[in-house]
Amino acid sequence: MNKRTYTAIDALYLTFQASPVVAAVHVMLSALQAVMPTAVMALATANFVDTAMNLLQGNGIHSDIYVPLILLLLVLGVFTTMGSVIQLVKSNIGIKLQRKLKPAMLHKHSALDFKYIENNHSWELISRVTRDPATSVMNGFDAFIRFGQTLLSVFSVLVLIVTQVWWAALTILAFSAPMVFISLRAGKKNYHAGRDAERFNRRTEYIGDLLVGRENVDERVLFGYGNALNDVWKAQYEAGRLLQLKVTAKMFIITKASSMMIALISLLIAMTLVNPVISGELSAGLYMGIVGAVFSVIHQLGFQMSSTLENISRAGEYMKDLTAFFAMDEAEGATSLPDAEPMPFQMIEFRDVRFKYPNGDRYVLDGVSFKLNKGLHYAFVGKNGAGKTTITKLLTGLYTEYEGEIRINGKELRSYPPKTLKALFSIVYQDFARYNISLKDNVSIGDTAGTDLDNRVYLAAKQAGLDDLILKLKNGIETPLGKIREGSPDISGGQWQRVAIARSLISRTPIKILDEPTAALDPISESWLYEEFEKLMRHKTTIFISHRLGSTKLADEIIVIEDGKVIESGTHDKLMRDHSVYAEMFESQRGWYQ
Ligand code: ADP
Repeated sequence: MNKRTYTAIDALYLTFQASPVVAAVHVMLSALQAVMPTAVMALATANFVDTAMNLLQGNGIHSDIYVPLILLLLVLGVFTTMGSVIQLVKSNIGIKLQRKLKPAMLHKHSALDFKYIENNHSWELISRVTRDPATSVMNGFDAFIRFGQTLLSVFSVLVLIVTQVWWAALTILAFSAPMVFISLRAGKKNYHAGRDAERFNRRTEYIGDLLVGRENVDERVLFGYGNALNDVWKAQYEAGRLLQLKVTAKMFIITKASSMMIALISLLIAMTLVNPVISGELSAGLYMGIVGAVFSVIHQLGFQMSSTLENISRAGEYMKDLTAFFAMDEAEGATSLPDAEPMPFQMIEFRDVRFKYPNGDRYVLDGVSFKLNKGLHYAFVGKNGAGKTTITKLLTGLYTEYEGEIRINGKELRSYPPKTLKALFSIVYQDFARYNISLKDNVSIGDTAGTDLDNRVYLAAKQAGLDDLILKLKNGIETPLGKIREGSPDISGGQWQRVAIARSLISRTPIKILDEPTAALDPISESWLYEEFEKLMRHKTTIFISHRLGSTKLADEIIVIEDGKVIESGTHDKLMRDHSVYAEMFESQRGWYQ
């Protein structure tokens, strides 16, 4: 799958591409299924009724009825079993579609430029497109098949009627055309209403998760916010439901009114066809067969057609989203692995760097300049929202549309391939991941290209202070962590933090960044952990980010950020002597560390 314009018809194309043979079998079976209950049934009924009437009038012998009866039963039998066979074929197509679409989507998803992930609007589109692509395409395919089936049934019945009474065929045709148009519009409107309702549904889903999820059960019980949140949930749910109901009700009335009209017409046709029967132009059996077939076709036109066409326009709208998804820019090298050997690092320099987020109108970094040299420890401090994390996002190449220059070893950052940048930095984020996999895998993903992992995992885990935990784990470092498996231990928040730090320790990147992964700890524990990390990282380049200053004393240089600018820098002693903003902050926090 690639960047191009997708339309509703791609539901057919993609399905045939994913599973050509089974899809072709499906089409053939469906064609048979379409003519079975209408034209073939009409003929079988006619044959049976006419033979029976002949018998009643004393013509022919008793056994004449057997063949028409068996034929009638055969048609009925084939028709009823065909439904199940088609279901089987459909589930096979579904699996094949899943196999084709899901990997393509995941690939695109992981290659997407970071700006789409952080933007609400594009994130909604991405979740909409990737949620269940196989079902969306399959529903479109199914709708086209049903549409074809209805056309085929109408056509076969029309052929049957034309050969008997041509004008009746014309009348049915004239009234079905506007039905198709109305149904198509109803489909589009319904889809849009669904999309608007989706916003509410997503919120409802989120609040629903809060209400029953395991993550926040402690707070839910402690604060007792369940009932209040329940009301919010109900309000969101109602808003979404009413929105959808309004459109559906309106469209229901329009489409059903027109199907009533068609039903009335078919009644008239049935009454008019009585004359040819009386005059002997049409046999009684054929009359019954045709009237039965007309009613069955009318049912399809009036009751199935609108939902079929709705699904076709739904598929069209999905394909629009798909087009937008595949048109999204990919970040070059987003899926590449870090270089196996990091390049030697000497220096980083920010020169008057200014940066706005793609969806923001404010400079979050507004002329930032500083230098970081190999082997030294740096601390970025400043209040929440000052721009500290943004600096790390630029450093690691997540956003490249900044003004000014960022130089690594004297060369502009943007001239390095992403895999080189990835091999340069390891970051322990504030919201570091807690992977529900084994301790060993949790740590070793810090160095995907590494060897001798068992020993190095042990070492890193030990350095991060996890030796006690390893002793307690049933299968040592092979034990799965988290609540996902029966019997696996759920380790404490502090232990998860240490796992994340071990991941950073095992990585061979020359620069280690700790971006407030300790925000959940009290100031003293945080400061203690930073000190430990600092000891382990002697002679390596580290960047500590924090709004708490207990850990910064040890840094070779402290860089104070405020409102996207560097307002001062220097050692702890220098900044304290200068009665700086830092000194003021430090004094105000002094109490935390006593
Ligand atoms: P710090 O790490 O110092 O707490 P950040 O660098 O996270 O601060 O944020 C700096 C500013 O940028 C804040 O005002 C924040 O709201 C804004 N910001 C952060 N991420 C985004 C984003 N993805 N889109 C728009 N604004 C953002």
